Parts: sequence; C-alpha cells; structure tokens
Amino acid sequence: MQDMKVTFELLKNYIGELPFGLFLFDTAKKLISWNETIINLLEISDEDLKKNHLGFVDRQIHEMLDTEQMQEKDLIGLSKPLKAKKVITSDGNILVIIVETVQEAIGEMSHELRRPITNIKTLTESLLLGAKNDPEMAQRFLEQINGETDRLAKLVNQLLNISKIKSGKLSQEKKKINLKNKTDEAIKLLQSIADKSKTTLINEVPDSYEIFGDSEQLEHVIQNLIENAIKYSLEGSKVTVRPGPISGSFEVVDTGIGIKESDIQKIFERFYRVDRTKAKGSSGLGLSIVKNVIDIHKGKIDVKSKLGSGSSFIVYLPID
Ligand code: ADP
Repeated sequence: MQDMKVTFELLKNYIGELPFGLFLFDTAKKLISWNETIINLLEISDEDLKKNHLGFVDRQIHEMLDTEQMQEKDLIGLSKPLKAKKVITSDGNILVIIVETVQEAIGEMSHELRRPITNIKTLTESLLLGAKNDPEMAQRFLEQINGETDRLAKLVNQLLNISKIKSGKLSQEKKKINLKNKTDEAIKLLQSIADKSKTTLINEVPDSYEIFGDSEQLEHVIQNLIENAIKYSLEGSKVTVRPGPISGSFEVVDTGIGIKESDIQKIFERFYRVDRTKAKGSSGLGLSIVKNVIDIHKGKIDVKSKLGSGSSFIVYLPID
C-alpha cells in the first residue's frame, strides 16, 4: 500500500467533514480513496466510486489527470459551479480537490463588469459637466459610451451562456453539419474585421466534409476561433480552416502572434488574457465558452502554438 493512501485512510474521519471534496488516485490514475463530501458535491454514489466510476464528471476529471500541464479545471454540467484542482504528492499519487466556486466567480464577474460601468459613468459625468456643449467632443464621448454598452451587453450574454452550459440547461440538437458551408458563413460575418487588419481568410474544407453536433453551438465555436485568429494576428497574416487529423475533427490555423507554452492551458480559463493591456475590447471569456461547448459535446480541443509564428486550434468531435 502506498504511503499517501495510508495517510488518507487514517485521516478519513476528519477529511470527511471538510467543505471540499477529495479524490486520491494512484500512480496508474486509478481511484483509490475519497472523502464523504465528494458524494454530495458531485451527486454521485459510493457504489459508483467503488467501481472506479466518477459519474458525470468521469471524463472531465480523467482529462485533467491525463494532461500534464492542466492543474485546475472548471467542472461543467452540474447544478453548482465546481472547480477541480490537481496536486501530485511526493510518492506520485494524485490528489484531486473539488471546491465550490460561487464566491470566486462572483468576485471575478464583479471585477470585469465594473470596468465598462466605470467608463460609462466617467464619460456621462464629463458630458453633464460641459462636454455636451462641444459637439465634436459630445459625439466622441457618446460613441465611446455606445461601445462600452455593447461591451457590457456582450459580457453579460457570455456570462449567461457559461452559467447555462455549466448548469446543464443548454439544450442540444445534434445533427450532421456541413463544415464547408458553416465556415463560409463565419468568414462572411468576419470578413470586414479581417479586411481591417489585412488578414486573409481561407476555407480549405472539402465540399462534403461533415462534423456532428449542435449547429448553433458549433457555429459559435467556429466563429470564435476564427475571430481570435484574426484578433491575435499581425497585419498580412493568414487564417485557414481545414479538416483535422481524424474524421469529424477540424482545425483553425493562423500565422499570428502565437502563445507561450506556459499560457496554453490557461487561455481556456474564465477571464484569462495573455496580455491584458494589448487585448483591448476582449473579455477572456470566448475560449472558456468554446471549451465548455466542446466538453458538452464530449469532444476535445488541442492547441499547438509557437510564439511569433502562429497557432493551431484543433477541435475533435465524436462522429455519431
Ligand atoms: P478574449 O479573446 O476575449 O481575450 P478568449 O478566451 O477568446 O478571450 O482568449 C483568451 C486569450 O487567449 C486571449 O486574450 C489571447 O491572449 C489568447 N488567444 C486566443 N486565441 C489566440 C490566437 N489564435 N493566437 C494567439 N493568442 C490567442
């Protein structure tokens, strides 16, 4: 028996009372112990756990165990917002801690919502204090207020989306989707933004290539990945959509600024932005939504990137 398991079993009476859930996996990633709290948090049965089955979050937890860089992960599809954190013990066992994230999420959201609100307040006060008498200044301030209001509306919509996905309330209507057509539609929508930065959008998807899933939700994923590829590219870059390495997968490749190795897992976290000062008008929520949508499709998203040369986001979706 491994040391960590012995300690865990000895402490079990006490850790059962803790406000967070604990899983202990051995070096082969087999579940060897857990505390009582986990049963309530994950609405799971002791019997399932004894069979080494983690219920609804089975795949999500195993994805974290299998990915070396992934230290924490939001769990989705449950009635409460939960986060899993991974700790590797000195004897190679893996401890997964499950915590409720309500407090944390409220804090983050208030912080993000406060920015546009403060800007709107400052601009409105300036107008009231006299800027309204200067038509040129008034026009500029009103345009800024309009932009900030759009930003606020987008943020609130994104947050609502996340909360729907996380609570499992987002209904799905899965069917075969022609990827070439979906990509054409997304390109049409994003062409004017691409033109501004002289980015070329290329659709390399063959006519009959199909992916499987909820049309509206996957449309959102495709648009978001192309929009990011444009946003994080330098003038004159190329963005290509093409089939991925296995059937039902696809790839959005850019020749943009790239992402540092240490940032790659973090970009899927809520509100994470690599360079906050440069990413003007961005919320850090786009990829978090993309990842959640792919998770509820039981798919996977991979990123390959090289700082300075570009990135490739590969989406794998089950084909039935
Ligand atoms: P947002 O774009 O609103 O900031 P996202 O969640 O879509 O939020 O992206 C998170 C961060 O990941 C971005 O702020 C950016 O730093 C980085 N990122 C996303 N896509 C790319 C890309 N194609 N190339 C380089 N960096 C990217």
